Amino acid sequence: MAAEILGTHDTPGTGPGSLTVVSGPTAVGKGTVCAKLREDWSDQVWVSVSATTRQPRPGEIDGVHYLFVSDDEFDQMIANDDLLEWAVVHKAARYGTPRRPAVDAVAAGKQVILEIDLQGARQVKRSYPQARMVFLDPPSWDELVRRLVGRGTEGPEERERRLATAREELAAKPSFDHVIVNGEVGQAVDDLVGLLGLQRATSGRPIA
Ligand code: 5GP
Repeated sequence: MAAEILGTHDTPGTGPGSLTVVSGPTAVGKGTVCAKLREDWSDQVWVSVSATTRQPRPGEIDGVHYLFVSDDEFDQMIANDDLLEWAVVHKAARYGTPRRPAVDAVAAGKQVILEIDLQGARQVKRSYPQARMVFLDPPSWDELVRRLVGRGTEGPEERERRLATAREELAAKPSFDHVIVNGEVGQAVDDLVGLLGLQRATSGRPIA
């Protein structure tokens, strides 16, 4: 299975793809960084859309931000082995990576990005030791708290729960292959682009 997803067999006409996990504590900005990557580098990068049992937030679109599924549907996905990894996040809802689209994207030579929590990251590392593990780090604890409060998507109780999880998640940083500090989104995206070795297509015309 590891060989299948990581494209160690060559498909004619495609380069071997790769799998990169982007993880890090709640509110560090994983979603924003990965959305920017998806927006600007879609020719080379494919960002997985996770399934989740949580309710959509205002503005979130089914199939774009998440696949919003019922508990029964999620159970079915687990039973069918349709998920590459899955976890209960913040003791609140289940989240998982649909296996088939990720496998297909790797086979098509794409750099596949999974934006997932630490539990999922550990599962991927166990199943696919070749996966590149990137930890997105906040500039400071105070800044992380400020971002979580600032986005206003959680009530006080949920916020406390997420911060408790964040402390545990920060402790896992040394087990990652790479750490990118997300102080400013543009810089973090540039760092990730550099790490992935993405190249802008050139027109081939000399600069006047
Ligand atoms: P939110 O509810 O704020 O969108 O996401 C909560 C957390 O779930 C984030 O830390 C995010 O990285 C994580 N998450 C999103 N999709 C997945 C997934 O497919 N698998 C796992 N394990 N975690 C995910």
